[in-house]
Amino acid sequence: MTSSGLAPGEPQRIVMTVTGPVSTEDLGIVLVHEHIFLDMRQSYRVHHPDAQYGPPKIHMLGEWRRDHSKFPDFMVLDEVDLAISEISGFAEYGGKTIVDATPIGARPPSRQLYPAGLRTVSVEAGVNVIAGCGFYIQASHPEYVRTSSTRMLAERILSEIEDGIDGTGIRPGVIGEIGLSQPVEDDEWKVLDAACEAQKQTGLPLYIHPYFGARGRIAPDVAKFVLRKGVDPRKINMCHMDGYMNLDYQRRVADLGVFIAFDNFGLENYYDSIDFSYNSHDSQRHEHLLKLLALGYRDQILVSQDTCYKTQLTRYGGHGYAHILRNIVPGLRHAGVDDTTLECILVKNPRRLLGL
Ligand SMILES: [Zn+2]
Repeated sequence: MTSSGLAPGEPQRIVMTVTGPVSTEDLGIVLVHEHIFLDMRQSYRVHHPDAQYGPPKIHMLGEWRRDHSKFPDFMVLDEVDLAISEISGFAEYGGKTIVDATPIGARPPSRQLYPAGLRTVSVEAGVNVIAGCGFYIQASHPEYVRTSSTRMLAERILSEIEDGIDGTGIRPGVIGEIGLSQPVEDDEWKVLDAACEAQKQTGLPLYIHPYFGARGRIAPDVAKFVLRKGVDPRKINMCHMDGYMNLDYQRRVADLGVFIAFDNFGLENYYDSIDFSYNSHDSQRHEHLLKLLALGYRDQILVSQDTCYKTQLTRYGGHGYAHILRNIVPGLRHAGVDDTTLECILVKNPRRLLGL
């Protein structure tokens, strides 16, 4: 890849990381949507009748790929030393920045992990880490969300952005990911509205998590809602657009001027029991990415891996945080994607999204 310095005339801007402000020039290769520490068990309170608990064992992996809901403890990332070693793997392949887009509802309960642990990981692994804020899907909302007004929720989000997460002084650099179910719950619209308000006041990028899969198809309507609220389309990251592999769907969102993220690279699960049509695999992501590039969407595409299961970590048999750099980029090069385009997707698009 060519140098990642700023282009002539490109303004140097600032991004808030967990260790303080960093120039966009120093972001380098960015994973725009990951989780270093999280606990998603709150979002899936109704556990599988045959649920198995505990960390991943090799004999569980086949079943996990067919139905991840059977293994709730895989949805927890809470080991600092492991995180440092896994993130170091990303740095070894040239990665420099990770956005941990983990909002309230998906964070682990311990402040020692979120956000304090993020700072430890950032320093020890030598990678910029950017924290998230806001609220995940309704199933994980704290009780006060239901009883709060949009304005009160906006103020909560703004206070994290201005004063830091839980009074630690560690400030988020993105709003989100804001969680939406299918259909979108009333409280989720309220949270999204509040997040729009916080976006307009701070300029921070707004990450939106629409429901995965063909059953959802809500991303175009959600993007229109956010645009009507006056959010700058260039500050919107519509996440998980590789969750429903339909070119028309992806284009309808991109044509609104927002970023579209193929941020589940490496996740190749099946969801037979809940939504058979969501079977996105890397070969499909690769194919659709090439189509979108050929159609001229280069400047709106983001890629990441949305690490949120233990089984995505190398320790537990996954590809790790270096998956895109190690495995996907060579494949794209082989398909004829040039360095300028790769630099755009991995460096310049994230820089434009994240910079203030
Ligand atoms: Zn998400």
